[in-house]
Amino acid sequence: VKEHGKTGFQRYTAEMNDTAIQTLIMEEWLNKALEEEQFVLFYQPQIKIESNRIIGMEALLRWRHPNLGLIPPGEFIPLAEETGLIIPIGEWVLRTACKQNVAWQQAGFEPMKMAVNISPIQFHQGCFVEVVLDALQESGLDPQYLELEITEGIAMFQVDQVIHKLQILRNHGVQISIDDFGTGYSSLTYLKKFPIHKLKIAQEFVRGLTFDPDDAAIVQAIIAMAHSLKLDVIAEGVETNEQLEFLTSVECREIQGYIYSRPLPAHELTHIMPTIAAH
Ligand code: C2E
Ligand code: CA
Ligand code: CA
Repeated sequence: VKEHGKTGFQRYTAEMNDTAIQTLIMEEWLNKALEEEQFVLFYQPQIKIESNRIIGMEALLRWRHPNLGLIPPGEFIPLAEETGLIIPIGEWVLRTACKQNVAWQQAGFEPMKMAVNISPIQFHQGCFVEVVLDALQESGLDPQYLELEITEGIAMFQVDQVIHKLQILRNHGVQISIDDFGTGYSSLTYLKKFPIHKLKIAQEFVRGLTFDPDDAAIVQAIIAMAHSLKLDVIAEGVETNEQLEFLTSVECREIQGYIYSRPLPAHELTHIMPTIAAH
């Protein structure tokens, strides 16, 4: 403090209070959002290129604020993670996504996977496995239709614990994918150690596919590696026909992106979803 002039210190404390107060207010809002069920899930189709059919959906969280409207997850998930609120919020996401998938199946749509994003903090909570199994039981969803999207960041600590939890989930039939693959570090170590099913090629590599030879090389390498390791692979953030053509030519079989559909509320997707009868 002694180094700062009076104005500097005042400004410093004022800023600190601002942030602290903002955080407190936001935290209270987030709590209220949970209580008053202001969260909603949008779903984005995952497509098998060959058949051009939906084979899965990714659940993506939004906050429908009464005054501010629809708030994207990037705006509130970091704070939810800081405050630990991501644990109850994430549990709500898991339960809601499982129930939605069952509702679609019961309505006669072809069974497909539901991919749910899992924050590292949520994964590291003591009873994470139990929460997942409970969501499956409560909804009645067959575990093979649940896919958990984890990130490489999950293994920043307690790697043995992480592997143990993933193994239990896998033994129950739950699928595991690595989200934004290639954007973290030491991913190759995880590939060997982790019982996973799928790699999701990060949007940041897909974006440059058709004009940046480095991105093209990375994407091609990830796909080839996934194939030889017998892992599924999906490219996300696919927006253009050129990207799709490139991905097809390097034998990527699944895509997700605006080229097919943006994330939408459940009821806005049914008209493009395959039904059992139509098969
Ligand atoms: P993510 O898991 O990598 O999700 C993909 C993001 O890319 C989504 O943004 C999606 O709307 C967007 N996207 C999909 N296709 C395209 C495309 O063709 N072009 C472009 N430019 N973007 C595309 P969204 O929904 O804003 O989610 C952002 C991030 O928030 C997610 O990234 C994920 O990390 C996080 N998130 C979303 N829902 C949840 C959740 O339920 N739990 C947790 N822990 N995180 C979530
Ligand atoms: Ca994801
Ligand atoms: Ca991603």
